[in-house]
Amino acid sequence: MVLHRGRRGILESVQPINLIASREHLVPSPPRLIVTDLDNTLYDWVEYFVTAFYAMVDELALLIPIERDALLDEFREVHRHHHNSEHPFAVLELPSVKKHFDGSSPTEVLQALGAALVAFNRARRQTLVLYPGVRETLTDLRTSGVTIVGHTEALGVQAYARLEMLDVRQYFQHLYALDLPIGPHPRSGPIIGDPSPDFIHLIPPAERKPNPALLLDICRQQGVDPSETWYVGDSLTRDMSMAKRAGTWAIWARYGTRYDKNKWGRLVRVTHWTDEDVQREAELKRQFADVKPDVSIDSFADISRLLRGADLGDNSKDL
Ligand SMILES: [Mg+2]
Repeated sequence: MVLHRGRRGILESVQPINLIASREHLVPSPPRLIVTDLDNTLYDWVEYFVTAFYAMVDELALLIPIERDALLDEFREVHRHHHNSEHPFAVLELPSVKKHFDGSSPTEVLQALGAALVAFNRARRQTLVLYPGVRETLTDLRTSGVTIVGHTEALGVQAYARLEMLDVRQYFQHLYALDLPIGPHPRSGPIIGDPSPDFIHLIPPAERKPNPALLLDICRQQGVDPSETWYVGDSLTRDMSMAKRAGTWAIWARYGTRYDKNKWGRLVRVTHWTDEDVQREAELKRQFADVKPDVSIDSFADISRLLRGADLGDNSKDL
């Protein structure tokens, strides 16, 4: 295993690792570092977001004179404009809302649409929950002296808010999240607890998954070799291919792919994805069609079993 030292030459030092073979020997345990994806690895993001979003839309359709379907079209346009399906306060940018509340301040509009925002928050409280065993496993990792780093392509401010809401922020050493301009916030004062300046690291767009450069950089910054690092994520094309190319141990959160397919369809209805995004995704799927994780797990709690040296077997074939 090659050592990755320093940022210079990181890409040259990436070994031509066989992506389609899961390694036959046991994952070395404990690791010194675990880097974990958040959405659909620690909690069911699809379940939470689609439930909360449509609860808001249903209320909104009662508050302003517009057909529900036209409302969804408007949301999709705003999401596409910002290239983010979770654009904060997208509701303020809907043409029908602007027209209906012409001349009102953002604060006044938010006040008038309070019931819709309350519906979103209520649904979020009910559906944004950790998968079984996540808290216990994070505790287990910390007790074992493992450094935990979060790595997500959600917006930094939202990913951080989710860690706070789920009361797991304290387990994480750092959070790497996407840097997207979100513009001025319509509400004064902080909406979430203030992270310490070095807690959130923003990912430049060029270093998005499945580019392994950032993962190698995380290892370097933690002073840990990739061979002593576990990467956990639910996406084969983005998380697992990246983890293997970086030379870390690729642990596939297979359970994260078992979200409600009806809800996925409702997400696609309002998503920001453009035709180019869809093509890029298809290309990634083609490129990494045969990627095999080193270990596949059916619960985040399986990580505790790996920590204790359990051999979960080569179950990666059972995709
Ligand atoms: Mg994910």
